[in-house]
Amino acid sequence: MVRKVLLIFALVQVVFGSDMAPWNYDDTMKWGDDYPFCDGNEQSPIDIKDAMEKEFDNLLSFSTNYMTCITGTLFNNGHTVQFNVDESEPSRLIFQGPLGSQPYKLLQFHLHWGSDSTKGSEHTLDGQAFPAEIHLVHVNASLDGPLGKRGDLAVVGLFIEVGENAKMAFQPLVEKLPSLKNKDDSTSITINMADILGGVEDFSKWTTYLGSLTTPGCNEIVTWINMEDPIKMAEEELKELRTLINSDKKPMVDNFRPPLELKDRKLYKNMPKAT
Ligand SMILES: [Zn+2]
Repeated sequence: MVRKVLLIFALVQVVFGSDMAPWNYDDTMKWGDDYPFCDGNEQSPIDIKDAMEKEFDNLLSFSTNYMTCITGTLFNNGHTVQFNVDESEPSRLIFQGPLGSQPYKLLQFHLHWGSDSTKGSEHTLDGQAFPAEIHLVHVNASLDGPLGKRGDLAVVGLFIEVGENAKMAFQPLVEKLPSLKNKDDSTSITINMADILGGVEDFSKWTTYLGSLTTPGCNEIVTWINMEDPIKMAEEELKELRTLINSDKKPMVDNFRPPLELKDRKLYKNMPKAT
């Protein structure tokens, strides 16, 4: 099992690796020059609108240990602040909904945010941007080859709006930010996922579509699940994120890719089964 986990982390490095041409958010339309997948037809993010209602066989589900404290490494990767789940942690799984019976294991989460609170999210909701967005990245638990095909990753995206978070969900993370100013700064942290996700009022309200990583190499391997209910972060906490420094030694702000066309894809909205 340990070998399997190490293998998955090694394979994931191929896609999220650091041995890549430098890139930044100055002109995301040019990413395709170095990363051809970024010019593909199934790219993310998108504007979430006009979704077709669809009845899925089962509710999107989280393993019972999902909403508990998880230990990992929080670090500045030059583009965002990211939390990598420790390899020794028991698997936190999502399954059902658009994923069918295949479980996906939580690998990491990271954030995207704006230079001010009028922008920052990657997905937009009927044209509306949010101040930030969090991405919970999961890998197919039965992956046994290199990451690179449709269905290898499932990402749960949550919009973040400005407001008082009753659970103070982001406080432990925000408190660590002063020690994560520069690229490659890292620290150990324990995050309570129940607090992070506690603001979601209704877990049956989501849309889903087939898309890509929103950073180079833009691999089209992601089943996206975008929650409709935003979670909350205080303006002071967003300000704290904006003090981080990116790989160009500039303020780490506006680290979002603008929405791309849906093209021939379908965007589905979960329609809870009539009971
Ligand atoms: Zn992301």
